[in-house]
Amino acid sequence: MIESRCGILCSECDYREKMNCCGCVNIEKPFWGDSCPVKKCCESKKMEHCGKCNDFPCDLLKQFAYDKEQGDNGKRIEQCKKWAG
Ligand code: SF4
Ligand code: SF4
Repeated sequence: MIESRCGILCSECDYREKMNCCGCVNIEKPFWGDSCPVKKCCESKKMEHCGKCNDFPCDLLKQFAYDKEQGDNGKRIEQCKKWAG
């Protein structure tokens, strides 16, 4: 079971309860804004998650994953690889 388009694990996310978020694969918009470019891109390609993309890991995904404040030092990219099997 995948939990997000980008590889974030909801079970490890602090916002899950705080924001009553049920995961970006289950909702139209992320709680933090009008749209998420990663979610949007992935869904527009009709893919389950970024790990299945031919451009994986693209610059956008890397930018999110290695962001100093919001990133997780590439952890979500590794998770996508696991999901892609
Ligand atoms: S950053 Fe985007 S793709 Fe990743 S979990 Fe949040 S809404 Fe989903
Ligand atoms: S890896 Fe990048 S290009 Fe591929 S679906 Fe994800 S965000 Fe889009």
